[in-house]
Amino acid sequence: MKHSLTVILLVVNLSLTSNLFAEGLRAGAAKVDITPPEGVSLDGSISKNGPVTGVHDPLHARALVLADDETRIAIVIVDACMVEEEVFDDAKKLVHQESGFPTDHMLMAATHTHAAPRLIHIGTEPIDDQYHRDAAQKIAQAVLEAEKHLVSAQLGHGSFRLEGLIACRRFLCEPGTVAVNPFGESGERIKSVAGKSTGVIEPAGPVDPEFSVISVQDRDGHQIAALGNFSVHYCGGYRRGMVSADYFGQFSEQMEAKLSARGERPAIGLMSNGTSGNTGAFQNRGRKFQPFEGMEYYGRMMAERSAELISKLEHKSDLDIEMQQTDLTLNVRKPSAERIAWAKEIVAHPDKPTPHRWSKIYADETLHLSRFPEQKTIKIQAIKVGDLAIASAPCEVFAETGLALKKRSPHPKTIHIELANGYAGYLPPKEQHELGGYETWPARSSFLEVDAARKILETQLQLLEGLK
Ligand SMILES: [Zn+2]
Repeated sequence: MKHSLTVILLVVNLSLTSNLFAEGLRAGAAKVDITPPEGVSLDGSISKNGPVTGVHDPLHARALVLADDETRIAIVIVDACMVEEEVFDDAKKLVHQESGFPTDHMLMAATHTHAAPRLIHIGTEPIDDQYHRDAAQKIAQAVLEAEKHLVSAQLGHGSFRLEGLIACRRFLCEPGTVAVNPFGESGERIKSVAGKSTGVIEPAGPVDPEFSVISVQDRDGHQIAALGNFSVHYCGGYRRGMVSADYFGQFSEQMEAKLSARGERPAIGLMSNGTSGNTGAFQNRGRKFQPFEGMEYYGRMMAERSAELISKLEHKSDLDIEMQQTDLTLNVRKPSAERIAWAKEIVAHPDKPTPHRWSKIYADETLHLSRFPEQKTIKIQAIKVGDLAIASAPCEVFAETGLALKKRSPHPKTIHIELANGYAGYLPPKEQHELGGYETWPARSSFLEVDAARKILETQLQLLEGLK
């Protein structure tokens, strides 16, 4: 009698447990078009921006919401060169007001396509401000829509290597062979963007050729979303004035076309930028591309490899979700009184010859930085979904920092998403600051303290440790 009672209790207990976990992982995804109207300021390759005159391919905010029984998180990828913290914060607030979604459980990142606006308030027209407000609203809309469509889901992840497609764009050079920088200083050891040298030795850093894919399906195996992560800065090969989401958009659209099942909600492709602060555009290896042809080629190739990988992945639904966010305050590399005097001199005499073709740009940047606060507080995040971890920073992070994160993370698989939750410029490690080069020149695109990369990495690792 006693024996059978135990058995009954055991059975009841088991069914309670399975009920409790019946729901497991839930997921939803959505995208909202954020293509700017004509006239909005468009980024271009450096110093070649101008107003939007046409659209090659549309821009989107794409959102993936994941939930377990206790936690709900959103990963949002926005087709923009960069997005400042205020725009993302506005979007997060709008989502929170509407659905109660906790604002510190949303990771929002820009792709870094250069054929899109910079969603930062630098020298913009009223039409740009209007675009910023519209974009914040549409980013929020993408999250809310993804949330509305949460269904029982399963997730798998994996990666492959795209070795030949990625290269470090900073080159170490023989001492005394690098031309002066925009500030008229000699002695730098790096040839990078806008740099010249007669004595290139080798790439100044490693690259991370890992292409990671996170696949989210419903329990019947219909694709809900596929999130890619790779570390090439951007592809480029644009036509001036034309809007494009670059390879990020090409990958996403290809994935959507390949994976959407007939009669179901269409799948959403998302492409996040990993650690591309020091990596160049794709290596064309002699191939000549027409405008926009290169990004289509690479986006298609990545989507083909990713779809093939997804078909082999094991998907799981009993996954625990956790997310942590913290503030990190860093010093700003403020210009010296001497540098400010130099900048004022350049600005006051626009017709005088300068030491470098970008001296005027960097004189302006120096004056902007002189008005910056002494310190900048940034958001660092870490996410865990089962054995997968994601860390984020609002910077253009160098490959060595991302590789160190992957190596030192306590989780079986870790990826990094850069340009997230704001924009705090390039993040060269201290050793790279000492070598100089474009990414280290003080400007609104490079202003954090010299030791910032190490401090950000340590903060990310602490958060990841806390999620174990
Ligand atoms: Zn960049």
